[in-house]
Amino acid sequence: MTIQQRSPLVVGNWKMHGTFASNSSLIQALLGRIEGVAVALAPPSLYLSATRQQLTGSTIALAAQNVASEAQKGAYTGETSATMLADVGVTYGIVGHSERRQYYGETDALVAQKCLRLQEQGIQPIICVGESLAEREAGQVEQVVSRQLRAVIELCGIEALSQAVIAYEPVWAIGTGKTATPQDAQAVHQFLRQLVAAHNKNIAEKLCILYGGSVKADNAASLFAMPDIDGALVGGASLVASDFLAICHAAKASIVG
Ligand code: PEP
Repeated sequence: MTIQQRSPLVVGNWKMHGTFASNSSLIQALLGRIEGVAVALAPPSLYLSATRQQLTGSTIALAAQNVASEAQKGAYTGETSATMLADVGVTYGIVGHSERRQYYGETDALVAQKCLRLQEQGIQPIICVGESLAEREAGQVEQVVSRQLRAVIELCGIEALSQAVIAYEPVWAIGTGKTATPQDAQAVHQFLRQLVAAHNKNIAEKLCILYGGSVKADNAASLFAMPDIDGALVGGASLVASDFLAICHAAKASIVG
């Protein structure tokens, strides 16, 4: 499979970092310096609205880090619905991030529900899958990522993946400085694409599969050179404008032709 069918996407996941002032300086340092590649920023939900305002007129899209699994408005203290995310102009929503699975007990079924909620509002889910170190060492990588992805396919249907992004994020590589080798990451990306192709080849060919896990300025280009790696979900490095810009520029440089 070739990369020509797919345009790279780079998503900055700010996690629980930032203030009005620091977010504003970070965005200011990015504006006008990214072109020719799709980029999205995922600030904490409290700052979505302000980020939206600052991004007005730029090509940088807005992403949410989480969404409520409930479809209806109501008595769900502390939650943010997909309807609200759409209302503030969110284009992408991250679901199934390993930190949410690990610290907040999110199950495969809940992640699939959240995926459904986002798509009901026209928001593209970024579906995170990935194995722990113990699972990798036990040779269970394919078993884990396919179980996580199948839960979404079973609830939302294979067609849902024509309006979604997958992020392969090995848990042991997130925030640790350890990156999967480009070859190891490519092997899992290829496996995920083949899993989707078994249901629908056309959707698989067009599906954007991001890599996430300690992506930095100095390893981005080698990851993006892999045929099934279509961009990155970036945590730590997205908080430093020069690092994030370097990753975006590496993604742009990976575009063939
Ligand atoms: C992430 O938050 O999805 C992530 C990959 O983090 P980091 O780049 O810091 O490893």
